[in-house]
Amino acid sequence: MPDVTAAPQTDLSAYTTLRLGGPAGILTVATETDQVVASVRNATAEGRPVLILAGGSNVVIGDGGFDGMVVLLRNRGVRVVEEHADSVVVRVAAGEPWDDFVAYAVERGLSGVECLSGIPGSAGATPIQNVGAYGQEVGHTIVAVHAYDREHGTIRVMPPSECGFAYRASVFKHNDRFVVLEVDFRLARSAESAPIRYAELARNLGVEAGDRVPLQLARDTVLKLRAGKGMVLDSDDRDTWSVGSFFTNPVVGADEWAALGLDAPHWPGDDGTVKIPAAWLIENAGFPKGFAGDGVAISSKHTLALTNRGAGTTESLLALARTVRDGVRERFGVELRPEPVLINCAL
Ligand SMILES: Cc1cc2nc3c(=O)[nH]c(=O)nc-3n(C[C@H](O)[C@H](O)[C@H](O)COP(=O)(O)OP(=O)(O)OC[C@H]3O[C@@H](n4cnc5c(N)ncnc54)[C@H](O)[C@@H]3O)c2cc1C
Repeated sequence: MPDVTAAPQTDLSAYTTLRLGGPAGILTVATETDQVVASVRNATAEGRPVLILAGGSNVVIGDGGFDGMVVLLRNRGVRVVEEHADSVVVRVAAGEPWDDFVAYAVERGLSGVECLSGIPGSAGATPIQNVGAYGQEVGHTIVAVHAYDREHGTIRVMPPSECGFAYRASVFKHNDRFVVLEVDFRLARSAESAPIRYAELARNLGVEAGDRVPLQLARDTVLKLRAGKGMVLDSDDRDTWSVGSFFTNPVVGADEWAALGLDAPHWPGDDGTVKIPAAWLIENAGFPKGFAGDGVAISSKHTLALTNRGAGTTESLLALARTVRDGVRERFGVELRPEPVLINCAL
C-alpha cells in the first residue's frame, strides 16, 4: 500500500491501484486503531460523509473525488490471541497489508490463507467482499470481525454467522455502517497447505485436486500464476493498474442457464446455481485482451482487468466498462456487474 508521508496528498489517485480518483475534502491518516474510531466518530458528529480507504485496490473513485473525510487506514499489527494443539487464532489490524500477513502465516507453518497470496490491499478489507482466489476465501478462516458500528457508536465482535459471507459479498459491502478494525483468523498448524481445490493450481503443482502441498510451494505457485495474469501489483506494469477483476462472474439459476443455451464453460454450484466465467463472456462478445478505450484498456494479460494505461480518467474507465457490459448483454443476454465499490461515480 502507498506510504503515507506527514503531509499526505489529498488527490485520491495517489492512493488507488488504478491511479484514478479526484481530490478528498479532508484526508486523515489513522495509524492506530483508536484513531480510526475517533476520526470516524468526529466526522460523523460533524455531519461529514466518511470514506474508509485502505489499499485502494477495490475502489473506483469519481474524477470529482470525495467531498468529505477520507480516513486512510494504516493501523498495523499481527498477534496470536489463542493457541490450540492444532490451530491458532491470529488477530490482524485492519491496515496491515494482506500479503504481509499471508507471508507471516506461511513462514510460521500456519495454513489456511496460502492460496490468497499476492492479493493487494489490507487485511481489514478482506471481509468486505469475502476475498477469494484459487479455491480459498477468507470466509473459510475468519472467526471474528471486530468492527466499529457507526449506527450504535459501539465496537462489535461479529462471528461469521453475522458477516453474511458469500461470493464476493458480505454484510459489509456497499454498507458504510461498519468500520472493520481488526480481523481474527483461525489457521491450522500445518507445514502443508489446505487441500488444493482449484484445478489450474493443482495442474501447475502437478497434484490432484484435494491433495496438500508444502505451504511455501503453494504460495510461490500462486504468486507465479497471478504474476502471469498481471494480478500482482507492479508499478512498472500498467496491466496491474487495475482493481483486479472489474466484473464478478455472473451466477444464474439452473432454469436461466438452460434458457441461455450457452456453449460456455461453467461451474455448477451446490445450490443449483451456475457460475459463468465473465472473462469467457467478454472475450466471446468481441472484447479481446488489449481492447482499448481512451487512455484505458483491457489488460493484455487478463480479460477481466480494466486498466489505466497512464492517461486514463475514471470516466474513460467507466466508458470502457459500459461498452463491455453492454456488448456482453447484447451478445449473450447476461448482465455483468462490477466487483469494485464505485464512489461518486456510476456504471
Ligand atoms: C491486481 C489486483 C488483483 C486482485 N485480485 C483479487 C483476488 O484475487 N480476489 C479478490 O477477492 N480481490 C482481488 N482484488 C481486489 C482487492 O485487492 C481486494 O478486494 C482487497 O481486499 C481490497 O483491499 P483494499 O485495502 O485495497 O480496499 P480498498 O480498495 O481501500 O476498499 C475497498 C472497499 O472496502 C471498504 N473498506 C476497506 N477497508 C475497510 C475497513 N477496514 N472497514 C470498512 N470498510 C473498508 C472501502 O470503503 C471500499 O468500499 C485485486 C485487486 C487488484 C488491483
